Amino acid sequence: MSTIRQLDETYIAKTYGRFPVTLVSGKGSVALDEAGNEYIDLGSGIAVNLFGYSDDVWKEAVIAQLNTLQHTSNLYYTGPCAKLAEELCTRTGMKKVFYCNSGAEANECAIKAARRWGQLHKGDDCYTIITLKDSFHGRTLTTLAATGQDAFHQLFLPLTPGFVHAEAGNIESVKELVKKHRVCAVMIECVQGEGGVNALDRQFVKDLVQLAEEEHLLIIDDEVQTGNGRTGTLYAYMQYGFTPDIVTTAKGIGGGLPIGVTMLGEKVQDIFHPGDNGSTFGGNPAVCAGALSNLQRLDDAMLKEVQEKAAWIRSELENAPGVAGLSGLGLMVGIEPVHAKAADIAAKCLAKGVLVLTAKGNKVRLLPALNIPDEILKKGIGVLKEVLAEE
Ligand SMILES: *Cc1c(COP(=O)(O)O)cnc(C)c1O
Repeated sequence: MSTIRQLDETYIAKTYGRFPVTLVSGKGSVALDEAGNEYIDLGSGIAVNLFGYSDDVWKEAVIAQLNTLQHTSNLYYTGPCAKLAEELCTRTGMKKVFYCNSGAEANECAIKAARRWGQLHKGDDCYTIITLKDSFHGRTLTTLAATGQDAFHQLFLPLTPGFVHAEAGNIESVKELVKKHRVCAVMIECVQGEGGVNALDRQFVKDLVQLAEEEHLLIIDDEVQTGNGRTGTLYAYMQYGFTPDIVTTAKGIGGGLPIGVTMLGEKVQDIFHPGDNGSTFGGNPAVCAGALSNLQRLDDAMLKEVQEKAAWIRSELENAPGVAGLSGLGLMVGIEPVHAKAADIAAKCLAKGVLVLTAKGNKVRLLPALNIPDEILKKGIGVLKEVLAEE
């Protein structure tokens, strides 16, 4: 065992099951281990390295800012966070943003905004938020409570109260909960990521939007994983034809540095006042400079490229030997294997120099960098197809 693995296993809390490899560097969609072996990365650090490892354009934006002003507090104005906010609002129609450092925190802020809105507009007891079964919203006690997977709940009771879970795709189950509880908001992922790479049914989302309008509920759209070009549009809701009241994002927007964003739509744009929420690192200038550069590159041509790569992957895997089914949207690909467990397929791919992820429900999950070169993608998918076909 390498020294690094020994140190890690001795001193790091065992919250992760790691693959037996130590990555030391990377460029684009290829990572290198200690021994200099190459790996084609089809997971991009769980949808984080938007343009791959050590991307030059992103790096330049971050480094220029590091050389100027790496951090100050939120007591002062700074350029990158203001410009990023303008870019986000202009391109989404949202009105205000709040910055933090992770997806879970962005969802915490969304939940706070929804509760405050419920309190102001529907009464003090109107704080319940409906989320969906098999959703994933984060690891804090509140976002765990929002997460509709019982397996995550039992270890850390009691969780934050005020969350109930409806069945994805079943509007009647949402309606029942709306009758039974004093509800202020519904929270969804357009494509459930960790929960199995399942895109929500379009009619279900349509019905949900209508129900929210009738019942005076906010819609919180968790785009932590689906956002920032991943599904072929800037945000996935843009393909579902609705406008959320609150959009959260994180993962890819920072390109590898931590940032979470809560975007507030018209109804909640003025919900917060000085002191109502905050974050020491939120809006960090270097992280925001990188995020702004990333967003500016996500133009129509880049999004078209994402759609084309996604279509190609699907055409390669559809009906391929060992594939029982495909799911997801854009470059968020779920693969149901016929012969083996998803975890075993990931281990075999690793041994052959390809990094893939897994998700709930025995899915192999692909989240490649949006600009993965076609040649490398072709090689990676080729290896995955070989492994999937093995009986
Ligand atoms: C990853 C993820 C989160 C949590 O993000 P962290 O940055 O790990 O806190 C929340 N929601 C969704 C949909 C995610 O995929």
